[in-house]
Amino acid sequence: QDLYGRNDMAGEPQDDCLFCKIVAGQIPATIVRETDTTLAFRDINPQAPTHVLVIPKAHYETAAALAAAEPQLAADVLGATQAVAEDEKLESYRTVFNTGSGAGQTVWHAHAHVIGGRGLHWPPG
Ligand code: ADP
Repeated sequence: QDLYGRNDMAGEPQDDCLFCKIVAGQIPATIVRETDTTLAFRDINPQAPTHVLVIPKAHYETAAALAAAEPQLAADVLGATQAVAEDEKLESYRTVFNTGSGAGQTVWHAHAHVIGGRGLHWPPG
């Protein structure tokens, strides 16, 4: 993977990308928020009472690649995490970008996990 990546296809929809298919409406998701540039939907395997994924609609493999290529879009994603947390009435929450397989990233379209609604321990595993 091009972790910090600046490859030629960055920002373009990928035919084989699960989250690009959700953006395109080809795979169903429980969408909780949408802006021109971002989409937020419930995680299919929630780890807490609230577990929402916030993605840029444009395809970047990792949060690092997104931030390097389009910092304003990265800011849009972070802003959407705040809006989701407020909509969900979370008193505290965690925003996580797993970047790279060693950090647990399995879907190679940048996404923020917004996790809340229960106590959260630190450090994470
Ligand atoms: P991990 O699987 O270790 O959490 P990531 O940080 O890459 O790795 O997160 C991918 C997330 O996408 C997972 O929490 C997974 O449950 C979620 N997911 C996978 N497929 C779908 C889907 N079709 N709809 C919603 N969430 C999904």
